Amino acid sequence: AKELGRNTFQFYSRELGEEAMRRVDLETRLRVAIQNGRLSLAYQPKVSLKSGAIVGCEALVRWHDPELGHIAPDRFIPVAEESGLIISIGDWVLRAACAQARAWLDKGLRPICVAVNVSARQLLQQDFAVVVLRCLAETGLPPELLEIELTETLIASDTERAAETFGCLSASGVKLSIDDFGTGYSSLSYLQNFRVDTLKIDKSFIAKMLSDSGNAAIVRAAISLGHNLQFKVLAEGVETLEQCRFLAEIGCDEVQGYFFSKPVPSTEFEALLSMRDAQ
Ligand code: C2E
Ligand code: CA
Ligand code: CA
Ligand code: CA
Repeated sequence: AKELGRNTFQFYSRELGEEAMRRVDLETRLRVAIQNGRLSLAYQPKVSLKSGAIVGCEALVRWHDPELGHIAPDRFIPVAEESGLIISIGDWVLRAACAQARAWLDKGLRPICVAVNVSARQLLQQDFAVVVLRCLAETGLPPELLEIELTETLIASDTERAAETFGCLSASGVKLSIDDFGTGYSSLSYLQNFRVDTLKIDKSFIAKMLSDSGNAAIVRAAISLGHNLQFKVLAEGVETLEQCRFLAEIGCDEVQGYFFSKPVPSTEFEALLSMRDAQ
């Protein structure tokens, strides 16, 4: 039994060692990528179900490592959060997204609201509201054209602090959406303390709503909750025409997902915009 115990220990420590090494390696590469400007943004359109027009977009960070290739945000964002690198990534994303939206205005495109994802560590830094307002001032982007996406989990982690920061930002015109709505296991009472623009129903519910009545019920309930609170409601991860039809039928306002477009580079987004506007 003693033998077995030791072997088991060695097995686990070796596994843990490798996992830890991978994380350190990823963190080192990420640090270099930030310094060398190797991050980029992809933009995914948000489409109105009523008009079919693109009403905004979400900026999503992309990282291409010269050796490892494309690394998905779900892999490196947690590493960035743990190591604190999320602060510099977040600053970069915010600035790049605002600068891009401003560049679209300067090119004569119609005003497009750009949404950025914000992590807990970013939001809870002392002067996050100041960082955002300074970024808007420096890029010259009107505050109404910036939207911040926060998850319920994040808001629940320090509701008072989040409400304070957001009070300041919404007063300036910045918009707020609740991301991954329905997955946070949190109480709904926080919704009253925020000037929310849009509830984004998590894609896991959308994926199953046509095959599972429980999921359909959750989607309907989220739409009516959102509307009763005067929020817009957006469905994430819409992949099929059938999903679109059902969402239109039950009164969902906006959709985002591969059915319309995957997240694309800014030039492709511009092309999408003029193509849809011409229709
Ligand atoms: P999220 O904010 O929920 O973003 C939506 C994710 O769903 C994106 O994955 C998007 O590419 C993907 N998606 C869009 N349409 C569809 C669809 O029809 N079907 C399916 N299956 N997926 C779809 P992505 O870009 O890999 O990002 C994953 C997560 O990483 C994001 O989830 C967000 O939590 C985080 N993330 C991405 N960019 C940033 C960033 O700049 N800052 C922070 N803090 N987090 C980010
Ligand atoms: Ca998001
Ligand atoms: Ca989401
Ligand atoms: Ca998500």
